Amino acid sequence: MAVERLPDDVLKQYEDVLLKEREDSLMLISSMNESQKKGSKNSSGDSSSYAFHQADQGTDTAELEKQAHLIDIESKKLKSINEALKRVHNKTYGICEICGEYIQNARLKIIPYARFCVGCKSKEEKRKKK
Ligand SMILES: [Zn+2]
Repeated sequence: MAVERLPDDVLKQYEDVLLKEREDSLMLISSMNESQKKGSKNSSGDSSSYAFHQADQGTDTAELEKQAHLIDIESKKLKSINEALKRVHNKTYGICEICGEYIQNARLKIIPYARFCVGCKSKEEKRKKK
C-alpha cells in the first residue's frame, strides 16, 4: 500500500455518512417496492395510490418498468455502500483500489462509497467504453 490508512476518527466520520446513506437507500428501495405493489394493485381500485392516474394504464406499465430500473440502480448503490462499510472495517476505506493512493476528500464527500480515485475512475470509464 502506497499510503497510510486513514485515521480512525476520519474512518468513523465516513462510516456515519455511509450508514446514513445505507438507511436512505433502504428506505428508498422499500418505498419503491411499496409503490410497485400499489401500482399493480391499482386496477383493483386501490384509492390510496396517489402516484398513478387510474385513467392511463399504459403509463402505469412504463412507470413500473422505470421503477424497477430505479430499484435496480438503488440496489447496486446499496451493495457499493455495504462494500464501502466493509472497507471501513478493514481500514482500507478512502484508498484507491487501483493505484493505492488516497481518494480525494471532495470525491468521497460526493460519493462516499467510491472505490477509485478520480484519475483511475476516468481511466476505468474510458476502458469500459472501448
Ligand atoms: Zn487511483
